[in-house]
Amino acid sequence: MIIEPRIRNNICTTAHPLGCAEQVRSQIRYVKAREAVAGPKRVLVVGSSNGYGLAARIVSAFASGAATIGVAYERQSSGNRLGSAGWYNNEAFRTEADGAGLPAFNINGDAFSEEIKSQTVDIVRSRIGTLDGLIYSIAAPRRIDPQTGRIHSSVIKPVGAPFTSLTVDFLNGDIRTVTTQPATEEEVGHTVKVMGGEDWLLWVDRLQEAGLLSHGFTTVAFSYIGPAFTRAIYRDGTIGAAKRDLEDKAGIINDALQPLDGRAWISVNKALVTRASAMIPAVPLYIALLYRVMKSKKLHEGCIQQMYRLYHDVLFTGSPPMVDDRGRIRLDDWEMREDVQREVRRLWERVETGSISELGDIEGMKAEFLRHHGFGMPGVDYSRDVAPDLY
Ligand code: NAD
Repeated sequence: MIIEPRIRNNICTTAHPLGCAEQVRSQIRYVKAREAVAGPKRVLVVGSSNGYGLAARIVSAFASGAATIGVAYERQSSGNRLGSAGWYNNEAFRTEADGAGLPAFNINGDAFSEEIKSQTVDIVRSRIGTLDGLIYSIAAPRRIDPQTGRIHSSVIKPVGAPFTSLTVDFLNGDIRTVTTQPATEEEVGHTVKVMGGEDWLLWVDRLQEAGLLSHGFTTVAFSYIGPAFTRAIYRDGTIGAAKRDLEDKAGIINDALQPLDGRAWISVNKALVTRASAMIPAVPLYIALLYRVMKSKKLHEGCIQQMYRLYHDVLFTGSPPMVDDRGRIRLDDWEMREDVQREVRRLWERVETGSISELGDIEGMKAEFLRHHGFGMPGVDYSRDVAPDLY
């Protein structure tokens, strides 16, 4: 089969197995070209197949020599049916880890469910003993509460008042104004259920009760804050309520980990094009301008650069990490630099459809979005017939 990108409503429904494998290998090459990190040796990554979770798994394995377990919820390939990008990424990761003699186990299923938690507990116990690290990196649209069986769907909406802003369709460069109506209280609650910290806490509790956490265990979950342009839809909106809940749960997890001398950290990461962030109003326009500014200042980072910096410069240096006044690690420090934000604001005030390609890095964003699905990778022959069920 010849596999091409098929995109509808900013969602790419196809993925290229060889391109995804090359994308994973290029991240591995980035890490292997750098200094090793004295990081955790047995790591569970929940949300391991894409974006920040995949990058963190690659750094764990290829910078610290860790055995890893990756949990993700992806469409498996079969026969002529394409798998999702995350499916191919996870399988490609395992192939590369096997080749390097690094134990790697993939679990495909709903991380919110009791069943997947039990499967993971069994694999930790039988294959790697105890865990030194847990990276929690889920971006999900819905969650079935394991206790009540109720389905909660997250929404990306402002709270209290409508939000009107410019946004861009980064696939064709069209700029338009969008208005999003405010969420109901119930919608805020649902979003917190899905993207808040409850499930992170459940994972840690479950593993700790099973006696599977090592002394000095470290866990990290990812948050985002962002600039004034997106505040009403992001940080002060439904998703921000969920992120505040996630950040609060770090405190509860820290208390629970005290007997193990363990730590839970929140890392506030940089805005990046991933499958999740392309869906938020205003954010794609902000990212297009931010990429232009950060690239011109040679400050741009992708997921792998951010995760390597997290491990190498912040978490596993032998000294306590630098944190903000709320105890959070700020990998968004370069994004939020005064000069970067001032320049983005200047561009935001001038940008329109005719000037977006010049003022914003639309091409770079689009290329990155396609690469997340295995397209546009150097060295891959896209005219070649490929079996969808390569893995
Ligand atoms: P992503 O969409 O690239 O990856 C999400 C991962 O979650 C995938 O591995 C997917 O399989 C997994 N997943 C989703 N639902 C699941 C389920 N029910 N069970 C198991 N796995 C499931 O997302 P991302 O952008 O890397 O985001 C990861 C985290 O980083 C999120 O918490 C996000 O809010 C945060 N973050 C993202 C950005 C950004 O700009 N992308 C910035 C800061 C923080």
